Amino acid sequence: MDGLGLRYEMEELIARQVHADRLHQLFRQSVSAVFGSFLAVLMLCWLCWERFDHTVIAWWIALLAASSLLRISMFIAYFRSSASERTPQRWERTYWVTLILSAGIWGSGALAVIPADDLLAQALVMLFCVGMSVSAVSCYSAYRYMTVVSISLVLFPCTIWLLFQPSSLQVGMGVAVVVFASFVFSATRNLSDALETAFRLTREIEHAHSVSTRAAQTDELTGLMNRRAFFEHAQQLYGHCKNNHLPLCAVMLDMDHFKHINDTYGHQVGDQVLRQMGVVISRSFRETDVYGRLGGEEFAVLLPDTSIEVAQNIAEELIQSIAGLMTGPVHRISASVGVASMIAEDHDLHSLMNNADKALYRAKARGRNQVAVSE
Ligand code: GH3
Ligand code: MG
Ligand code: MG
Repeated sequence: MDGLGLRYEMEELIARQVHADRLHQLFRQSVSAVFGSFLAVLMLCWLCWERFDHTVIAWWIALLAASSLLRISMFIAYFRSSASERTPQRWERTYWVTLILSAGIWGSGALAVIPADDLLAQALVMLFCVGMSVSAVSCYSAYRYMTVVSISLVLFPCTIWLLFQPSSLQVGMGVAVVVFASFVFSATRNLSDALETAFRLTREIEHAHSVSTRAAQTDELTGLMNRRAFFEHAQQLYGHCKNNHLPLCAVMLDMDHFKHINDTYGHQVGDQVLRQMGVVISRSFRETDVYGRLGGEEFAVLLPDTSIEVAQNIAEELIQSIAGLMTGPVHRISASVGVASMIAEDHDLHSLMNNADKALYRAKARGRNQVAVSE
């Protein structure tokens, strides 16, 4: 894939992650809204017990209780689901349905209980509607349209009703709520934009960090681990095998007469051979093995949970694969390999690597293109 395609794919991935982050933020922020909206209705009905119709109160509370239970079961299902299941495709529609249901019940219930001839009760109802709207801003800010829709459903039935009442006090109250709502609506845009930017930046930093970490650990030519990364991982593996009394073998490999290849065919052909070595090595070992390019034309491998006999066989197969390589004009490619296994006298990783290195030099001395095992 070319650079532009990769970049596009990365942006797509970040956009998907940001979307999922917003969903998670929505769920986390809005749990309290379920209980808050139910408590608000209870409190309002208690305050205005003498002023509201009791049948309407009963219906309002019953319907709201049902929709709240629905929402609670949705929250439980969401928080119980695994991270991979928490996708916007799976949850957004359900969330919208329960939100519209409960905000609709809230707003239409408020309109149903509001007494036509009681200004104080009307003001109290509007106070609670406004309070509900303010809490909607804090609960649904990750999804701007959810904030706008829930505020509209809660606030507008009573507000519109007030605007059509005869008293100027009632109309004034309605106008004030409309003005207030318009400020809130514009604030929701800034808030949801700021949240989205924060999520995107966090994800971009995460990606940049993982890209730079990978680059710092990778050998550019072969794609294998570089020397530093190899020793970091090797050290961990050595500690793990030592502590768990598992066998561990080290393999050191050095290309034969590589200088000759460079001198005869040029440095670029030499590089091409090294690239092929990267492919052969990464194909030859398991995911649990640690392998890398130590520098120049030298490679090293650590094989956990492997006996010296098996390591020797693997090394023999490896030099067979290398002998079968052909890169452009180069027909004779070979390498020498030294193998050593961890023994009780090894104090650390470096003594194991040293033993493999000594074996490697014995393989060179014996005529190259062969495997030698540490004594
Ligand atoms: P021996 O069989 O004894 O190992 O001989 P050799 O020629 O392989 O050994 P030597 O260590 O003398 O030479 C290694 C050569 O590898 C020298 C250097 O030019 C070459 N080399 C090191 N790094 C690179 C690289 O990144 N690209 C290329 N093309 N050559 C490299
Ligand atoms: Mg060499
Ligand atoms: Mg060398």
